Amino acid sequence: MKRPNILILGAGYGGLTTAVNLQKKLGSDEAEITLVNKNSYHYESTWLHEASAGTLRPEQVRYEIKDVLNNKVHYVQETVEKIDIKNKKVVTNIGELTYDYLVVGLGFEGETFGIEGLDKFAFGITNVNDARKIRDHINTQFAEWAFQENDEKNDTLLTIVVGGAGFTGIEFLGELANKIPELCKEYDVPKEKVRVICVEAAPAVLPMYSPKLVDYAIGVLTKKGIEFSVGTPVVRATEEGVKIKKGPNQFEFIKASTVVWAAGVRGSRIVEESDLPSKRARVAVEDDLRVPGYPDIFMVGDCAFLMNKETERPYPTTAQIAMQQAVTVAENLVALVKGEDTKPFVPNLKGTVCSLGNSDAIGNLFGKEITGKSASILKKLIDNRALYLVGGTRLVWKKGKLNLFK
Ligand code: FAD
Ligand code: NAD
Repeated sequence: MKRPNILILGAGYGGLTTAVNLQKKLGSDEAEITLVNKNSYHYESTWLHEASAGTLRPEQVRYEIKDVLNNKVHYVQETVEKIDIKNKKVVTNIGELTYDYLVVGLGFEGETFGIEGLDKFAFGITNVNDARKIRDHINTQFAEWAFQENDEKNDTLLTIVVGGAGFTGIEFLGELANKIPELCKEYDVPKEKVRVICVEAAPAVLPMYSPKLVDYAIGVLTKKGIEFSVGTPVVRATEEGVKIKKGPNQFEFIKASTVVWAAGVRGSRIVEESDLPSKRARVAVEDDLRVPGYPDIFMVGDCAFLMNKETERPYPTTAQIAMQQAVTVAENLVALVKGEDTKPFVPNLKGTVCSLGNSDAIGNLFGKEITGKSASILKKLIDNRALYLVGGTRLVWKKGKLNLFK
């Protein structure tokens, strides 16, 4: 009998964890497994704010995919261009791949909500290439300022706007707040010349946390010189900076040489362009993570949309959930290969931690609030655990955050 052909798109938290679990659970004689990813490496998306600020080398946030796979998974480095569900095939930059079962784990892209100029003039924190670009751009602005003659210095070069005070925005600001003094020293820039402004549309930052935790986070960041403009959505970006709305018919323009957009995510455009029914490029899935009407297609991670029936709100798009979903996807694929029933995805939400630089954080663990060093240590343990679940202790030794107390 022909072995079923399982095709996994994307080697992020969802896709790679699915592949690693399948290689443990299925024999080579039971299924043919192919993993497609555009790079030879997997990156820890959850560490991209560090690579973007320059507090972690890009090399440290990624590892070679082949290092965590055995010979049961065939890995191909190709870029997915189209999912053709009618013909059960996927078109890539190299050719076509067919499937009996498809797992879509193509991840997230930055959401600009159609705001004019963001696509062109703002940076997004979405992958290693973006992170390197942000880091290099900021360094260049400092170098350029230092290069200018004293009477011609343009301080806008030293103004950075961060759009969005959700998790990504706040974690990036935490890293930036620690990096700026280093940059000032390196480029002979007086610290008071640098402005970092976080612009948030909603009336409060980090709405998922209690006012006590939010006050702690804002206190830490403002003490390090970060400014906040809250309840003032960005409405436009230009080459010179951003326009923000301060009230009915009231606008302000902030001149800035660097605009980093961290105001939300959507799924992959490849999903949106396919015939799969999607909203913000995310596909609503059944309890067993298959697409309704398509029993051969699973969605995993940020491309999947699933309601939390208890809270009646969608589960957030997180690595924590992507990795847990991947375990269920792998188990359900094994069940289908063996002719058994699939089971529903049951998330095990432990809480969240939001870093405020390398040695401070706020968090909520099993309903208990934590701040400071202990929260920061916990964040590093969570980061290491993600590595462990995919590549075991070897990967933790190689790429992990081993200095928990730094
Ligand atoms: P991704 O991790 O985005 O992986 C998608 C993969 O698909 C990538 O390898 C990509 O290269 C590949 N790919 C994309 N398009 C193509 C294509 N066309 N062809 C081939 N390959 C392709 N979540 C948490 O739980 N905890 C955190 O602390 C946390 N911190 C975060 C910090 C930052 C700065 C950001 C941006 C996000 C953070 N998140 C966190 C959210 C988390 O990173 C995402 O929810 C998670 O990455 C989603 O996993 P995924 O597998 O769906 O997609
Ligand atoms: P988000 O949607 O959580 O936050 C985006 C923020 O941008 C919101 O506060 C929103 O009000 C604001 N915003 C939207 N439009 C705006 C505008 N026009 N002007 C100014 N502000 C605007 O997005 P995120 O922070 O990128 O997070 C994406 C996902 O990744 C979430 O599910 C999050 O939970 C997850 N994540 C988790 C962690 C963690 O657990 N430590 C870290 C980063 C990201």
